[in-house]
Amino acid sequence: MISENLRRVHENIRKACERAGRDEKEVTLISVSKTKPVSMLREAYDQGSRDFGENKVQEIMDKRPELPEDIRWHMIGHLQRNKVKYIVGNVCLIHSVDSLRLAEEISLQASKKQVDADILLEVNIAGEESKFGLSREETPALAREIAKLPHIRIRGLMTIAPYVEDPEDNRKYFRQIKELSVDIAKENIDNVSMDILSMGMTGDYMVAIEEGATMVRVGTGIFGERDYSSNRS
Ligand SMILES: *Cc1c(COP(=O)(O)O)cnc(C)c1O
Repeated sequence: MISENLRRVHENIRKACERAGRDEKEVTLISVSKTKPVSMLREAYDQGSRDFGENKVQEIMDKRPELPEDIRWHMIGHLQRNKVKYIVGNVCLIHSVDSLRLAEEISLQASKKQVDADILLEVNIAGEESKFGLSREETPALAREIAKLPHIRIRGLMTIAPYVEDPEDNRKYFRQIKELSVDIAKENIDNVSMDILSMGMTGDYMVAIEEGATMVRVGTGIFGERDYSSNRS
């Protein structure tokens, strides 16, 4: 099932790139494996997946030692400051930075480990109350502040678009995020590049790619529905 799903997702990515006149290599597929057992991640790995997304620090800590070392782990979920020390140096990208205090802690832990932490700023583009993330208005100023911190690099923006039946309904939000990233890139801030745009999930990743996504985060479309009835998550 996983290999078939992956093949379909890659094919959809290829088609979306074609429609948008983009090179397929510009888009990284992140296999979102939260709540899924290591055996399923290994199956995806064997089919060529190297980028995996998790939303809980504990799950990354548990799964990482059991899987090959060339996997790039992505922290995509809300991050508490007291857990930052566990993931800095263990993940390739933190997608969910939404405050100066969190960025300061990442910077501190990265300094201690003498590594540079790559991060994205999470933007709540639709202004949904139930979601974490910065407003569009406050994002540029926060980018300027975080950029001054040592051992931290802002690589772009991330957003979780609203849950919708018709992915077309999210096109306007993907466009807004893209515009915001272009605006911030124009400021030429030291330590800030806007080369990554993490947006699009199972329901809407094709539209996200058409609007400029460079990373799409697909869970259900690869691993199937998640089961939250047990105590895993
Ligand atoms: C769970 C999750 C996804 C994947 O969602 P699907 O709809 O299953 O593809 C993507 N991004 C984030 C931040 C998530 O928490």
